[in-house]
Amino acid sequence: MSLHYDLHSHSIISDGSLSPSELVRHAHQSGVDVLALTDHDTTDGLAEAGLEAARVGISLINGVEISVSWNKYTIHIVGLLAQVDNEILQQGLSGLREFRIWRAQEIAKRLHKAGIPDAYEGAQVYATGSIIGRVHFAKFLIEKEYARDMREVFKRFLVHNKPGYVNGQWASLEDTLRWIKAAGGIAVVAHPARYRFTATKLKLLLGEFKELGGVAMEVVSGNPTRDEIEHMSKRAQTQHLLASRGSDYHGPENAWLKMGRLQTIPASCQPVWEHEVWSSLLPAVIQQPAVVL
Ligand code: AMP
Ligand code: MN
Ligand code: MN
Ligand code: MN
Repeated sequence: MSLHYDLHSHSIISDGSLSPSELVRHAHQSGVDVLALTDHDTTDGLAEAGLEAARVGISLINGVEISVSWNKYTIHIVGLLAQVDNEILQQGLSGLREFRIWRAQEIAKRLHKAGIPDAYEGAQVYATGSIIGRVHFAKFLIEKEYARDMREVFKRFLVHNKPGYVNGQWASLEDTLRWIKAAGGIAVVAHPARYRFTATKLKLLLGEFKELGGVAMEVVSGNPTRDEIEHMSKRAQTQHLLASRGSDYHGPENAWLKMGRLQTIPASCQPVWEHEVWSSLLPAVIQQPAVVL
């Protein structure tokens, strides 16, 4: 029987809603065998997640989802199997977290001008982990009834050209790959379909990514359509990238996205976990279950 891999997920350490232990338990109960915790710009949840994974008997892969500015776009690169005590990686992530604090203050200033006071303090109530992000502002705005749900609050306040939007000044693609490689990890392009790039632009990104030492791209991300999977598997093949798969789970409040339900990667692609680069890194960083049930 093949293992259920889910290589993209979030905890309350970034903008998810479950603690790392709760997330691991939920993954286990949902039939996930190998889980990567990939919080935004921090690895702080991995120690707790690793302990819980060993306790319940699933494999926990070290992960992080890095915020990147590429040309004028914000994209996300997932780092897997990195050594978390690497200074180059940690310094890089720490710079991004500092930018997040500056950006949060700036978002609050702009919301204030738009007639919404105290958003910084309001968002901080929800940002109990290691980073502050737009989701924390979203939760505050919903609490104050400026919008009904996540979808609406982003659309009305937190995206480009809306009152609470501040341009990201994230890591360069080059630095991101440098940090992940310095820590001995492998880089994966997160949710490529979500950028809504033209074929030409996506090809440019994947080409640059591969050139810089990138290894894989998510071919199955979230709850994709068959067409999306087909399209992304073709891109992966053309660009000679391995295929990854992840739910991007943020918590049970997103009722339409369940863990343990990920579709399989098409046979035409090579899953990242079947490549020798994966098995060569595995013994060093995987948190092996204490008891295999
Ligand atoms: P940030 O990195 O702080 O700019 O926030 C990005 C995060 O916001 C993503 O990882 C998602 O969790 C969330 N997000 C972005 N766009 C939306 C949206 N339209 N609806 C709901 N959540 C979103
Ligand atoms: Mn998120
Ligand atoms: Mn993302
Ligand atoms: Mn994510």
